[in-house]
Formats: sequence, C-alpha cells, structure tokens
Amino acid sequence: MTDHASGSFGEFGCYIDGAYREPTETFAVSDPATGDDIATVAEGGADGIDAALDAAEAAQREWTSIDPSERGRILKDAADALRDHAEELAQLETAETGRPISQSRLFVTNAAKYFDYYGGLTDKVEGETIPVGEGYLDYTRLEPLGVTGQIVPWNVPSLLSLRGIAPALACGNAVVAKPSPEAPLTVLEMNRIVTEAGLPAGLWNSVPGDGANTGAALTGADRVDKVVFTGSTETAKQVMKDAADTLTPVGMETGGKSPGIVFPDANLDHVVEDALKVFFNAGQTCFATTRIFVHEAVYDEVAERIADETAALSVGPGSDDPDVGPLISEAARDSVAASVDDAVERGGRVLAGGEIPRETGNFYAPTVIDGVADDAPISREEVFGPLFTLYGFSDEAEVVRRANDTKYGLYATVWTADVSRAHRVAHRLEAGTVTVNEYPVTAPQAPFGGYKESGIGREKGLQAVEEYTQTKNVVVSIDR
Ligand code: NAD
Repeated sequence: MTDHASGSFGEFGCYIDGAYREPTETFAVSDPATGDDIATVAEGGADGIDAALDAAEAAQREWTSIDPSERGRILKDAADALRDHAEELAQLETAETGRPISQSRLFVTNAAKYFDYYGGLTDKVEGETIPVGEGYLDYTRLEPLGVTGQIVPWNVPSLLSLRGIAPALACGNAVVAKPSPEAPLTVLEMNRIVTEAGLPAGLWNSVPGDGANTGAALTGADRVDKVVFTGSTETAKQVMKDAADTLTPVGMETGGKSPGIVFPDANLDHVVEDALKVFFNAGQTCFATTRIFVHEAVYDEVAERIADETAALSVGPGSDDPDVGPLISEAARDSVAASVDDAVERGGRVLAGGEIPRETGNFYAPTVIDGVADDAPISREEVFGPLFTLYGFSDEAEVVRRANDTKYGLYATVWTADVSRAHRVAHRLEAGTVTVNEYPVTAPQAPFGGYKESGIGREKGLQAVEEYTQTKNVVVSIDR
C-alpha cells in the first residue's frame, strides 16, 4: 500500500470489520507542502457508515462480555503496537498535514499513551451502593452506551482520534470514526495496526469522507448512541442539530481564542519561550494562546524579544523538520493572510511575519501583531494559523475582564511569580483549563474541554468515564 520512495501512499478503502474494503468512490489527499497528491482514499458515504455500524454493533455485544481486565490488556497491547509503528505513523501524519516530523513523532507517541491510560481503567469503572433504607439494596452500574460515532479533525488526527476512541473502548463501547478528508491516512492505519494487534474486528471502524455526506450519515444515524465531535464551533452547531433528531447525546470539543496574561513579575525567558510554542503545528491548535496580554511595565521588552525570535524561525516542508510547516490548505493560508491584511487596515502593527514566504505550498510566515482593538475581528475570531496578537494592560481586574471577553473558553495561561495572584486569576478565568507559568501543559490524565462555545463535556482523565457510560440504578427488595 505504501511506496515511500515515490512519496505516494497508494489507495485506502474504508477500514471496516478488521479489513480494508475495496473503494467505489474516491478522493485525493495532497501534501500541503507541495500540493502533490499522495494518496487516494474511499469516500465512505452512507453505505460505508451503514456497514461500519453493522460491524460495530455486533462487535460491541461481544466486547462487553469479555473480562474487563482482559479488555485492558488488549488496549495496552494496542499502545505497544502503535509505539512499534511510531515512525511510519509519524511519517504518514507529516505527509498528510505538512507538520514538522519531530512534532509528529511527539504527537504519535503521546497518542499511544491514551491506550496505556485507559487500558489501566477498564476494571475500575465502578458503580456505588446507595442507602435508601432498611430492606433494600440499591446500587448503580456504569454501563456502556453502545456505538460511539467519532468525528475527527485534520489538525492532529492521531492524538485527537485516540483521545476519544481509547476511553470509549475502555468503557465497553464500539467506535465508528469519520476522519477528516484533508488527513484521513493516520487514523486508517492506526485502526489497522491496533486491530491486527488484537482489538476484536469491528470494534473500531474508520469511514473517511466529507462532512456533508459521510459525516452527516454518522451523526444523524439512529444506531449511534453518542456523537463525539472535535472540530470547529460552526460545524459543531450543525452536528448538534443533526444528532437532535434522534436525541443522541453529543460531546463537543470545538474552537478557541485562548488568552495568556503576562504579569510584570513573570519569568520573561519562559514567557518568550512559551509564546513561540503557539507556532507549533503552524498554529493550528484549538487551544493556542493567540491573545497575549502583557503588563505595560514589561510590554516593550516582551514584544521586542518575541518579534526577534519569531523572525528567526525557519519555515519549510515538514519532512525537513523546520520550526514551522505549511498550513493544511491554500484556503487556510489565504484566510490567515486576509485576517492579517484586515488587522493592518485597522491600524495593527506587524511585529514579525505578515507575508506568504514561498510560492509553492500553503506556507504563511509566523506572525505577531499588536495595536489592534479587543473587538477587532483578529481579536475575536479563531484564526487557525501561525499568528498571535499582543495587547498591553495595567490592572489585574481589567485584564481578567478583557481575557474573558470572548465567546470561547478552552484554555488560558497566566505567567506570574505571585502565587496568590496565580490562583486568584486562574479561578476567575472562564476556561476549561488554566495553566500557570507554562504553556502548554497537557496529559491524558487531566480533563480537557471548553467553557462557553468551546465545547460540551470533557475528554481525558477519569471524567471521560462519565462521558462514555450510562448509569443504571438497580433496587432490590431484600425482605419481600
Ligand atoms: P471542521 O469543523 O471543518 O471539521 C471537523 C470534522 O467534522 C471533519 O471530519 C469534517 O469532515 C466533519 N464535518 C464537517 N461537516 C460535518 C457535518 N455536517 N456532519 C458531520 N461531520 C462534519 O474542523 P477542522 O477544520 O477539521 O478542524 C479545525 C477546527 O477544529 C478548529 O476550529 C479547532 O479549534 C477545532 N479543534 C478543536 C479541538 C478541541 O479539542 N477543542 C481540537 C482540535 C481542533
């Protein structure tokens, strides 16, 4: 299937019931660095989703009857198998996303950890006994939902798919995943590798295709017991409407416009180092700290240092392992360019970047802008690219209000040496995650999700068990 030498990965069908199926309709996947086609992939459509749901329903009935600790062992084997294939998966994800290869290696390794973590949880999904009075035994069971439909974005297919798939399987569910048409290859190959390593066939199936047909066929299907969506806030609203027809519960991990706040007592070396991490994955990260508020006492120094270091970053194809790779598509690059042009027309200053650095490929230079108003489009809208804006501030209460003045609430970061202020501000920020003195910090053990329009529910950590189980209450009358 894969011919790395020619840069072509061949043809991929839907992965259903433990095997690739011969595709009928197909679409091309291209390399964002060159625009060249690198693979042909099945457009699964409603028929693909139907076949995957058949396989998932049958496999799920068997899965729940397997000893939970045995289920855990299978998931841990899946983690080992992904690690054994880490390099080929990283190469694949770099080919389809354009991301620097060292970043893909990190993502793939971190993705495998979801199977480690949730593999250890399968035999600890416990109910409780409830005191309702003499003569009764009242207890709860946390039962699986059934089949979960998981809609995956293109920005980090490996990690973002397993973030939902691993806990779903650990709690006794089956999965039909719909990878994004821009980057479906890593999800398909992880599905094959994990199944060949021992996950029962049909328990996880992947049906690539577009959103309007294949995606909607999954999210609107009566046989799906939960829709787990990761993607843009706009698409999430459509998915929720489609799922409402069958009263299917949804978990939503959507967009962000995360604030960072730099107080004057912060370690500025750390601030500059962390700010540059916004350019990781070419800034195509849901929780990227794209609005950085810097206290006026240190503003000029921080802005100058960030601008200088940003201008020194290398840009190029992911296979060359630069600091910043291309954006996913030409349209994405043009949208970033339009946001920058609009900001400049409104009086914004380009401190670094602000240009398309190469003729071919979807590249945009890492960019830092200041001098824009809090209500300018660039301050309000998620610009999914290598770009962030700086703002000055003088007062703690004022900056908290400005940081919270957004429809999003996914992530926030505070840099300060004052421990009281760190906690006070962390408690007041409206975000699902607040980090102090480091950006970013993530782990499978810690819950993740959005306030406001950044999402519904939580992925990761023990909290995911609530998302992938339903509670049954059993009451036994002892004396009758
Ligand atoms: P997108 O919303 O365009 O697409 C996401 C997925 O939804 C894709 O698989 C797409 O094919 C599918 N889809 C589109 N229309 C659909 C429909 N009507 N029914 C069912 N499925 C449909 O998002 P994207 O461009 O792939 O990803 C970038 C976005 O994802 C950004 O907004 C980013 O912030 C967000 N994101 C959020 C998180 C998080 O954890 N909160 C993580 C990564 C990305």
